[in-house]
Amino acid sequence: MGIHTRVKGDRDSDPTPLSVDLSQATSAEAWGVEDSEKLYRVEGWGDPYFSINAAGNVMVSPRGDLGGSLDLYELVQALRKRNLQLPLLIRFSDILGDRIERLNACFAKAIARYNYGGTYRGVYPVKCNQHRHLVETLVQFGQPYQFGLEAGSKPELMIALATLQPSNLAKSNDFEDTLLICNGYKDRDYIETALLAMRLGHKPVLVIEQLHELPIAIEASRNLGIKPILGVRAKLSAKGSGHWQSTTGDRAKFGLTIPEVLAVVERLAASEMLDCLQLLHFHIGSQISAIGTIKNAIREAAQIYGELVKMGANMQYLDVGGGLAVDYDGSKTNFHASKNYNMQNYANDIVAEVKDACEERGISPPILISESGRAIASHQAVLVFDILGTNEPLADVSAPVENEHRSIRNLRHTYSQIAVENYQEAYHDAIQFKEEAISLFNFGYLSLRERAIAEKLYWACCRKILEITRTQEYVPDDLEELEQNLAAIYSANLSVFQSAPDAWAINQLFPIMPIHRLDEKPTNRGVIADLTCDSDGEINKFIDLLDVKDVLELHPLEPETEGDSTSKSKHKPYFIGMFLVGAYQEIMGNLHNLFGDTNVVHIRITPKGYNVEQVVKGDTIAEVLGYAQYNAEDILENLRRRTEEALQDQRITLDESQRLLQNYARSLSSYTYLSED
Ligand SMILES: *Cc1c(COP(=O)(O)O)cnc(C)c1O
Repeated sequence: MGIHTRVKGDRDSDPTPLSVDLSQATSAEAWGVEDSEKLYRVEGWGDPYFSINAAGNVMVSPRGDLGGSLDLYELVQALRKRNLQLPLLIRFSDILGDRIERLNACFAKAIARYNYGGTYRGVYPVKCNQHRHLVETLVQFGQPYQFGLEAGSKPELMIALATLQPSNLAKSNDFEDTLLICNGYKDRDYIETALLAMRLGHKPVLVIEQLHELPIAIEASRNLGIKPILGVRAKLSAKGSGHWQSTTGDRAKFGLTIPEVLAVVERLAASEMLDCLQLLHFHIGSQISAIGTIKNAIREAAQIYGELVKMGANMQYLDVGGGLAVDYDGSKTNFHASKNYNMQNYANDIVAEVKDACEERGISPPILISESGRAIASHQAVLVFDILGTNEPLADVSAPVENEHRSIRNLRHTYSQIAVENYQEAYHDAIQFKEEAISLFNFGYLSLRERAIAEKLYWACCRKILEITRTQEYVPDDLEELEQNLAAIYSANLSVFQSAPDAWAINQLFPIMPIHRLDEKPTNRGVIADLTCDSDGEINKFIDLLDVKDVLELHPLEPETEGDSTSKSKHKPYFIGMFLVGAYQEIMGNLHNLFGDTNVVHIRITPKGYNVEQVVKGDTIAEVLGYAQYNAEDILENLRRRTEEALQDQRITLDESQRLLQNYARSLSSYTYLSED
């Protein structure tokens, strides 16, 4: 894919800027929050939850259009005053509730619109985000809709059993239809636990994913005298798309081929248990960007469902799995970071396809189940982190000195000649002269000081050329790298591996933008580098309308006190938000360089404002060291003994030794990220 680096509507109007310092050239320009809204595409990915307020801060409306909103920047300030350090993951419980409500409303609307004879019973796939407070909140919000859970492993089954409210069998002999879909590979323990849970009033459906699970299920049910509700997961031939394409087809890791599905039916019939087979499941992968892919899969699955009915299975449920996508770049396209349909289209197509297939066969329509994880959990979480400093190539044109080396003079000349007519040629000249200067240095003909002058001149040329390319409609390919090469590196107080592992592992794009100063033009272009000592710990791909951007528009850091340019390290806080990170990122995050879990808070909108419902403190250093089998007391004691030895040899004073031990002990109980002071 081609790389698109520039943003429409953000061109400088002056075609030949004289100044090479962007921050000064444009700060006076008019810039409004609407410009930021357009630039960061907030409406596209954030509506109705995220927008920008008149103060230039991100505004969160956790209940969507139902009212109640808060200023994200002010919230972060208030949380820091509660001693919650950045990076901070903020979960808005009301967004979670709104997503569940929306999904159910979309299916209800589709069912009414097509006069569908069945109902909808959604389940949340626990693997998408297993955190207790989130799952508990979700189950609570889901109760009016009898929204269930899906487990993909034994530990997730245990979460589901601990969290779902079973129906009260003492009151009625009927199960309510809150489902517990049991997917994933199963052993005897898994199957027995699920079966026994029926005695508590749960309604687990054991979905056979592997042929060998069936005899275990049959035997366990005989031994316990509990009749199971069984499902089969079919491998469809309809192709998925994008990253999870291989989830379907004969070679997929999960599910049964059609001959295997037949074998299940025959085996159950032979055991006089065909009435237990009630559900057909499929899952064609996550983040399905194209609605056509979903329709094809539903069509195929509806036919399989009809055939199972014909063969005498007691079919009740059609489970369409996950895949409902999230529009991370807000482009409404079938690009991998987007989707070319909305939630209502999704529900309509499922309902309409299944209805048609059932009417053709004259069978009663199934209860529809979807296992949407990403679409439910993504929006509720925002990661906020601070910028520690910025770094960009030193570009500067010093006054010439006497007897300057020819290669330096050439660079000076190139710089002075750069114009719209020759900028491409000038770029190649600058590269050549810089390489020449480095060769000369390597052979001992240029001093370190001279090489520094040459490098700074080279970057000054690049910056001046970049300014010109930004005014051009078309930029030759060989100049596209300039934007990236000159991008400022924003050092961020976060670990990409811990907080956005998919950005690293599968190049997933998340919307990223400052959460304040949005009434001010972001005059810098930068990439985000994390705290890890890993060059992969960088975010250098950003959402854009047409393609992917290599650099993000950001603000220059402001010095702490007005006019104080001497202390470079002190700057006013600059907070960046990474949005739509509620699905998959947390558990998949890893401890690279031993940066641990971040602090997490749960926020709920109240009539008086908001309430901090839960605070889950991030890992301390002692905790992450524990994962690597270091015992905090042992290593502290170890250090204490070493200081005693050094004291005896008079290599350290008593004061110094105490200070060292205190620092060490304090670090053990502190956050793994950098503190702001
Ligand atoms: C991962 C998974 C899901 C969730 O998919 P999303 O795209 O996040 O909605 C649903 N069902 C199964 C079987 C899964 O493995």
